[in-house]
Amino acid sequence: MRKILTPVVAALALGFGAASAQDYPSDTITIVVPFSAGGPTDTVTRLIAESMSKTLGQQIIVENVGGAGGTLGARRVAQAEPDGYTLLVHHIGMATSATLYRDLPYDPRTAFAPVGLITEVPMTLVARPDFPPANLGELIDYVKENADQVLYANAGIGAASQLCGMLFMQAIETQVTTVPYKGTGPAMTDLMGGQVDFMCDQTTNTTNPIEAGSVKAYAVFTEERLDALPDVPTAAEAGLDGIQIGIWHGLYAPAGTPPEVVAKLSDALKAALADENVVQRFAELGTAPVPPEAVTPEALQEKLLSEIDRWKPVIEAAGVYAE
Ligand code: ASP
Repeated sequence: MRKILTPVVAALALGFGAASAQDYPSDTITIVVPFSAGGPTDTVTRLIAESMSKTLGQQIIVENVGGAGGTLGARRVAQAEPDGYTLLVHHIGMATSATLYRDLPYDPRTAFAPVGLITEVPMTLVARPDFPPANLGELIDYVKENADQVLYANAGIGAASQLCGMLFMQAIETQVTTVPYKGTGPAMTDLMGGQVDFMCDQTTNTTNPIEAGSVKAYAVFTEERLDALPDVPTAAEAGLDGIQIGIWHGLYAPAGTPPEVVAKLSDALKAALADENVVQRFAELGTAPVPPEAVTPEALQEKLLSEIDRWKPVIEAAGVYAE
């Protein structure tokens, strides 16, 4: 039976909602990262969380809920109380999973209250340090010749590493075995240890190992070389045209979160992205904050919808789906 609120109870309920939105935040906030600790999404999130916590005057806990290419963590937040205390940082996978998964338990277009875009991070193609190919041309030949043996690491269907690997395999017309992890943090550990052969990952995870020589870098999928990795050629320079991919990240709350709460979060995110420490750490890791006008719910929603449309035909052409 439908519960009918008497006017007094309804007024109390409304009054409470308004007051709690005004007092927000009065408790610890959790930001869910839908991948393992130590990976690129985790790194970006921890950097902004530290700064947002100072602005909001509340502790922010980062919780890693990895698995199923980021969809488990996203589901957790889609189903959370829309009170601003459970948030999500997700990347391009929010858009690609809309097509990759035939029965996602939430609709990425409507299940969230977008807060703002954060950053767009370049992708690099890296390999274990003793992988034989010396450059991208040799890598392509080697992968074609040894397609039944080489192992490509990714963070599951829906991850940026999976999308990039799919584009690479499509471009060289060769499929290889993929090894899925809950995030590219642990995948990087295995790559450095030689358990897997190669992977694509964001510079927020690859810059330090490339500089330390713990992995081999073949290419960056950007138009220009990066200041942070001047010796790494662009894929086009190294002989592979047509793949350009930037991994954009956004901050989301569950749909139904009061607009005043979302506005406070957008302001705190804007402040974090102007924080000198965040800007400097991003630059060292080959990325930069988005401009302030992109740190809005509207900009993130627009990006999400346009990216769902952009990747749908590409994924359908590749015929890759999570069952
Ligand atoms: N970079 C990873 C991916 O999407 C996820 C992560 O661990 O942040 O492949």
